[in-house]
Amino acid sequence: MITNSLEGKSAFVTGGSRGIGAGIVRALVAAGANVTFTYASSADAAQAVVDELRAAGGRAQAVRADSADAAALTAAIDDAARASGRLDILVNSAGVLHYAPLGDTSIDDFDTSFGVNVRAVFVAAKAAAKHMGEGGSIVNIGSMSADRAGSEGAAVYSATKGAVQAMTRGLARDLGPRGITVNNVQPGPITTDMTTGFADMLTPMIPVGRLGNPDEVGALVAYLAGPNARYINGASVTIDGGFVS
Ligand code: NDP
Repeated sequence: MITNSLEGKSAFVTGGSRGIGAGIVRALVAAGANVTFTYASSADAAQAVVDELRAAGGRAQAVRADSADAAALTAAIDDAARASGRLDILVNSAGVLHYAPLGDTSIDDFDTSFGVNVRAVFVAAKAAAKHMGEGGSIVNIGSMSADRAGSEGAAVYSATKGAVQAMTRGLARDLGPRGITVNNVQPGPITTDMTTGFADMLTPMIPVGRLGNPDEVGALVAYLAGPNARYINGASVTIDGGFVS
């Protein structure tokens, strides 16, 4: 039996200052990893996550790197890999939600959504793969919206997450031969700033009768990034309380 410890591993997480990303950072640190995570603007929230984890004996650091800026994201990954001497895990969690009907969605909204939710996943995977060897792991945070739009206004967001699902399969083919796995976690409704205001509308549609929480997503990501999951590659794993069932 292999334990799923991440002791000695170095991880990089995009968008770890709040919400699901912060839950992922907490889970990876709890499993023993040294985690560098990015934020775009929430410096105080990012520092609070770092302080909390260090106070508990964990290893974490935050860096500002806008995922829309390919050069900044690539440099942040290169710096983190250099500082730790290795990179074992990349989690692409940073994301934006543009939810509006077609008439209220501009071409800029489309480009911004694809820039952060899709292009940055490609940029980060390309940067991280240079530093990874056998046993490496990339986990993308897609969405159950890839499989079910669910309501009006989801076209662009769903399309970005469908692209993440498809890119995950392609990257799994590219990197599997090097011993690097690539998987996609597809959350359903999770309590974060992104779902503020939607909880009452969503709850009756979720068979388990509640939204999920970021720690539950973090636990799944830590499993997929760990030694027990080495034969899982190219998969999309939905964690949604049964929402799309
Ligand atoms: P939040 O809005 O709560 O947090 C978003 C996080 O991403 C923050 O840490 C934010 O940093 C960071 N971020 C946003 N834009 C950028 C950027 N351009 N560059 C760097 N970091 C950025 O979102 P969630 O936690 O809810 O969502 C996280 C991921 O999970 C997203 O990919 C989302 O699509 C996906 N998801 C969420 C679901 C949900 O129900 N909440 C359901 C399905 C998928 P900062 O604090 O600096 O703004």
